[in-house]
Amino acid sequence: MQTLTVVVPAFNEGTGLREFHTRLMAVFDTLDMNCSVLYVDDGSRDDTWTVMESLRAVDARVATLKLSRNFGKELALTAGLDTADADAVVVIDADLQDPPELIAQFVAAWREGFDVIYGTRSTRAGESALKKFTSAAFYRVMERLSHTPLPRDTGDFRLLDRRALDALKQVRERQRFMKGLFAWVGFRQKSIVYKRDPRFAGSSKFNYWRLWNFAIEGITSFSTVPLRLATYAGLLTAFAAFVFGVFVFIKAVFYGDVVRGYPTLLLVILFLGGVQLMALGLIGEYLGRLYMEAKRRPLYLIDEVHRASAEKRQ
Ligand code: UDP
Ligand code: MG
Repeated sequence: MQTLTVVVPAFNEGTGLREFHTRLMAVFDTLDMNCSVLYVDDGSRDDTWTVMESLRAVDARVATLKLSRNFGKELALTAGLDTADADAVVVIDADLQDPPELIAQFVAAWREGFDVIYGTRSTRAGESALKKFTSAAFYRVMERLSHTPLPRDTGDFRLLDRRALDALKQVRERQRFMKGLFAWVGFRQKSIVYKRDPRFAGSSKFNYWRLWNFAIEGITSFSTVPLRLATYAGLLTAFAAFVFGVFVFIKAVFYGDVVRGYPTLLLVILFLGGVQLMALGLIGEYLGRLYMEAKRRPLYLIDEVHRASAEKRQ
């Protein structure tokens, strides 16, 4: 029988995990596949790991993995995908914002021959207008900057088949913008539209500062256009400076040179200083990432891993 593993990264999701599990198992019962779920505890500080282990104790379809500390969602996901070993793998959030019931549709599309099936959000209940706006803006900026087409309004909720999973496992970069990487692998992709529900329990782990950093991560890992923008900004200011220089020269020749123009001088110095610092900062962003990448540290460390007992029997 074909196998399916559902990878669930969780960070402080203890309150909602049982409900999630119940709904997921209801879906498993409708699928004629050998299903298992892999819960990844991303260094939670609440009872998430205890809940995971108690689920594993009573259900043979549960596997658990505990990271040595909080590594962030992208790396928790990577750890899960590295460990998962099935014909098809589904990635889903633990907070029930992505309805597990959709997995049945993913599997149907997979059987039709698609390699990657992703959920596209039509609505996002329970999220603020500002979050929706910034998220929409981000996708549109990414679309312009990157050559990898990133599907709009798409989270990590998706199904990958063996080919896509193996391709993804080869990507070992530290700067992991998973959504981008999922799109980058290509193959036959299909979108399924769904309504995103509000969180079942707990609160979002992503505040605006984290989201902002996430956006920078996404842009810098998939595009070098910002670096080129710095070049253009430099060219533009140099050109403007030249035109202004000619203007000042001609004015001095024809009207003489009275010592004036202190405000202009100050303005130009401040402006150029600002542009230079900005360009330097931009280069720094890329350089810093290059530095982190060059260290080649392991992406994550595993504390404990337990396979599903249903898998062991085979
Ligand atoms: N998550 C994680 N590690 C983190 C932050 C989040 O594994 O450091 C998990 C979290 O438990 C959830 C998923 O990633 O299952 C999405 O997080 P969240 O719901 O907070 O993000 P949002 O839906 O608000 O974008
Ligand atoms: Mg969420």
